[in-house]
Amino acid sequence: MSKIAVFPGSFDPITTGHFDLVERALPLFDKIVIAIGVNSQKQSLFPLEQRLGWLRLVFASYPQVEVTTFEGLTAHYCNKIGAKYLLRGLRNASDFDYEKTISQLNNIVGQGIETIFLISPPAYSHISSTIVREIIKGGGDASPFLPSGVHIDQEKL
Ligand code: ADP
Repeated sequence: MSKIAVFPGSFDPITTGHFDLVERALPLFDKIVIAIGVNSQKQSLFPLEQRLGWLRLVFASYPQVEVTTFEGLTAHYCNKIGAKYLLRGLRNASDFDYEKTISQLNNIVGQGIETIFLISPPAYSHISSTIVREIIKGGGDASPFLPSGVHIDQEKL
């Protein structure tokens, strides 16, 4: 049976931290589904199509990686596609506190789904989409935090 992991997130935008996490997780799974959760309540800086486009571009040469979107509960989505694992990253203690509860809930709601956490290396533990958005909104250069191929056009914001 193939080992499928879902890596859910907003990816608003994808960062080198997300990219590093997926690369390191590849040997653990047969397939990683990077899934943008579509939540009408949550306001994003970048439109869904743009976030999807960047993910598709960055992982274009990774046959094990699929990029998609989902609506509703993450655990239900995992059940629907036969994924028994969730992939998440841990940068610090606040990530842990938040992720611990979510993973326990997903395990119950998803009837046995296990969340696999990878600790981010020091070189990436300060990077978050939130910080990248702040840099962009402030007119700064976010390129050191973006995977190659991802370019942000300040004019279009
Ligand atoms: P969410 O909106 O659910 O927080 P994000 O797109 O911000 O989604 O992040 C998705 C996942 O990526 C989370 O598990 C987060 O911990 C992980 N992640 C984000 N940045 C990093 C990083 N720099 N190193 C490791 N994991 C990261």
